[in-house]
Amino acid sequence: MIYSVLIVSLTFIVMEFVAFALHKYVMHGFLWSWHKDHHQPKDEKLEKNDRFFLVFAIPSWLGIMFGLIYDINWFFSIGLGIALYGICYVIVHEIIIHQRLPFFKRLNFKYIKGIRFAHKIHHKNQGKFHGVCFGMLIVPLKYFK
Ligand SMILES: [Zn+2]
Ligand SMILES: [Zn+2]
Repeated sequence: MIYSVLIVSLTFIVMEFVAFALHKYVMHGFLWSWHKDHHQPKDEKLEKNDRFFLVFAIPSWLGIMFGLIYDINWFFSIGLGIALYGICYVIVHEIIIHQRLPFFKRLNFKYIKGIRFAHKIHHKNQGKFHGVCFGMLIVPLKYFK
C-alpha cells in the first residue's frame, strides 16, 4: 500500500515535468497546430488544444486497465497518478486559470496568484516561438513576489 501511494505521488510529480517538456517541445513544436488556438482569440468553446487532454488520458487508461486485468500494482498506480494529474490540470489550468467553468473565481492564495500570473505571462506571447513559463504547478519563484 505504502509503495502504491509512493508511486502515485511520484508519477504525479513526474507528470509536471513531462507536461512541461511536452508543452515546450511538442505543443510549441511540431504540434503547434493543436496548441495554437489556446494562444490566440477564438469563438468556439472547445479548443483543438483540448485534444491533448484526450492524448494524456490514453496512458492513464491503459495503466489502470492493464494494472487491474493483470493485477500489476505499479502499472495501476502509474495510471492513477497520471489520472490525478489530469484532474488537477482541469481544475488548475482550465478552471482556476482560464475560468472556463464558473468555479473558484476568487481564490487569492499566494501560490494560486503566482501560478496564475506565470501562466498569464506564458499567454502574453501569442506565437509559437520565444515562449516562457511552460510549467503549470512549478513556476519560477519570481512570479510569487
Ligand atoms: Zn503554450
Ligand atoms: Zn493556458
